[in-house]
Amino acid sequence: MYKVAGGVHYKFSDLIEVDRLQKLFDKLYELTGIVAGVADIDGTLLTKTGQTDFCSEFHRGNPKLVHRCTKSADKLSELISKLHSESEFICYRCENGITHAVTPIMIQDKVSAYIYMSQFILSPLDLEYFRKQALELDLPERKYLTSLQKLPVYSEEEVRKFMEFAVCISELLAQIANYKLKLCEEQTKIELKLSELVNSYEFCKVLTNDRSFKKIEIESDLRKALDRGEFYLLYQPQVNSKTGRVEAVEALIRWNHPERGVIPPNCFIPIAEDTGLIVPIGEWVLRTACKQNKEWQDKGYKPIRVSVNISPIQLRQWDFVNLLERILEEVQLDPSYLELEITENSLMESMEENIEILDRLRQMGVRIALDDFGTGYSSLNYLQQLPINNMKIDKSFVQDIANDRNKSYIAESIIQLAHRLNLEVIAEGVETEEQLRILVNKNCDIIQGFIFSEPLPSGQVERILRRGRLNLRKFVEV
Ligand code: C2E
Ligand code: MG
Ligand code: MG
Repeated sequence: MYKVAGGVHYKFSDLIEVDRLQKLFDKLYELTGIVAGVADIDGTLLTKTGQTDFCSEFHRGNPKLVHRCTKSADKLSELISKLHSESEFICYRCENGITHAVTPIMIQDKVSAYIYMSQFILSPLDLEYFRKQALELDLPERKYLTSLQKLPVYSEEEVRKFMEFAVCISELLAQIANYKLKLCEEQTKIELKLSELVNSYEFCKVLTNDRSFKKIEIESDLRKALDRGEFYLLYQPQVNSKTGRVEAVEALIRWNHPERGVIPPNCFIPIAEDTGLIVPIGEWVLRTACKQNKEWQDKGYKPIRVSVNISPIQLRQWDFVNLLERILEEVQLDPSYLELEITENSLMESMEENIEILDRLRQMGVRIALDDFGTGYSSLNYLQQLPINNMKIDKSFVQDIANDRNKSYIAESIIQLAHRLNLEVIAEGVETEEQLRILVNKNCDIIQGFIFSEPLPSGQVERILRRGRLNLRKFVEV
């Protein structure tokens, strides 16, 4: 048995074309009368040639001969087991006078099968010996001797020549088998590789469906995105609910991924935050938004604020305030035209630390908005200490304001609370006229939402800036 990669086992008979060999040994038998063939190492005959099975014919049913034959057969198998690469061939004369010869077939330096030549008599044919034997063993003498005479008789020299021929055949068979085995090995390796590949493909599929893999993929693309200029900003107008004037625009980042298309911030900002990439990305957003605002002012439009979303990670950078100063200085934008949006949740995380930073920002003249208000757990006590300018009611309240009484009351309470704290209130996510009407009636100061405009590229913002204000009456009876 030969084990190749992947644990597949091969016997000699798997590696050789037995039919063709059969023909060769048939021919040999025809020419020499010698029963010859190939057997696997376990003794299984692969080719069978010659009809006479002398031993079984005379030994069967004869306890004495069975004994002798078994003994001799044992000796033969013993010999076979002793076959090794050095033994070219072994010739063995059985006690009954019949001669057998074997030569090993070596595969990968191991005896894997053998060629046998058997049932011949070494000359001279000593009939006297056989007659005595028949007598001794109670065999029918005439029949025994007639059968014996049918066996070929060869001289030692002739037998040696036959065996040399058998050795040649065995070497050739070994070469073929070795070659086949190598092919099988290669084939198995290829199949294994293929299955590995199939498995790894499956693995990849599992991975790509896996959120963490997506994260890795996005992360590696994110690293390149800044250098490749794949980010851009859209600006969504914030409209004064009384005058219709566009007071500000919120800068909202987009990622134009070369393969995936435009990716919204919710899909990559959390990853950018996890990896720290939010710091350079956030700096780019700040610089771009400030620069854009200054450009609008330089073009002569009535100045507005630009509102930029800031991640808590940016806020906690030791030089965040300095960075902001540098950017404002660099683009020559007055700090009062910049507003930073910080979500209620992130602000509450490390309150003391954040308040300190916000204080410094406010001293610079930058405005602060509390984003997504209502989704977190601000304590009223803290709220009055916060150095903020306005509160943005989260769109989850706005969206249900018309059909959910509770949400409507909460929105109203937020507006009243904010006003008591001298803060401005912005409602975000306003989509319908009904939502707008309710919010205006509840004295919400600023409206942001699809009802007026989706986030727009800077060029389209300019068209609105040219008009300066939106006609609120078009939307609602104020
Ligand atoms: P946000 O700051 O609360 O921004 C408002 C989100 O509501 C924006 O989503 C905006 O497109 C969307 N929105 C505006 N009007 C409506 C409306 O009428 N209906 C509905 N259904 N949605 C409306 P967007 O642009 O996908 O941004 C999602 C969030 O990603 C933002 O929420 C903000 O937290 C974050 N984000 C966006 N840009 C930046 C950035 O530059 N830096 C950081 N750190 N976060 C950003
Ligand atoms: Mg925001
Ligand atoms: Mg928000």
